[in-house]
Amino acid sequence: MAESGKSFLIDTTKCFACRSCQVACKQWNARMADDPVPTNRGTYENPPDLSYNTWVLVHFKEAVRNTDGALVWNFVRNSCRHCLDAPCKQAAANSDSIIIDEQTGAVLFQEGTSRESFSKIRNACPWNIPRLGPGGQMFKCVMCIDRVREGMLPACAKACPSGAILFGDRADMLATADARLAAIKPDHPDAAILDRDQVRLLILVAERQSLYTTQVELTGV
Ligand code: SF4
Repeated sequence: MAESGKSFLIDTTKCFACRSCQVACKQWNARMADDPVPTNRGTYENPPDLSYNTWVLVHFKEAVRNTDGALVWNFVRNSCRHCLDAPCKQAAANSDSIIIDEQTGAVLFQEGTSRESFSKIRNACPWNIPRLGPGGQMFKCVMCIDRVREGMLPACAKACPSGAILFGDRADMLATADARLAAIKPDHPDAAILDRDQVRLLILVAERQSLYTTQVELTGV
């Protein structure tokens, strides 16, 4: 399964932070605004964190590039990585509460999780992704599995206007990611594909990871 199934490619060099992905995710998956509604924190990054209603979040960060001292404004999407060997599933007291979709490799939470089990699952996730809803159900990105099973793109990939979110067969996404990395590497020596061999959300960054977000560690597995 490691080289089969589906994957996303998040190419941060093409993201201009329109957040169409955030909106499309909420729209397709019928997620409400966060409650309370977030207030202005002096940043375009909004809401401030993932939640049971927000499964995709674009992080913003201004930083000084180490290679030439230029000021850069970097954007990176945060959401479930759909890990190939998912630590959340390994930690679940009831392994049936998290399933791996056979066709795509999507990591999918099932209904009915105790709070005790949830805290083990959340602590096991290297990126602090799972969130608990008011009814005790776990939430996170579901790869728009209902769309993908019908041959459609996930809503975020469909909505992205710049080609920053690609989705398809894992082998194709890996090949595209490797080609894009090779293209930018001469001008961006710190460029990398984060956790390339461990996750289905392949994130291509052009700079050091610390120049992307103050909120989350981008590499984890
Ligand atoms: Fe599980 Fe976290 Fe990996 Fe998603 S990113 S599959 S929630 S361990």
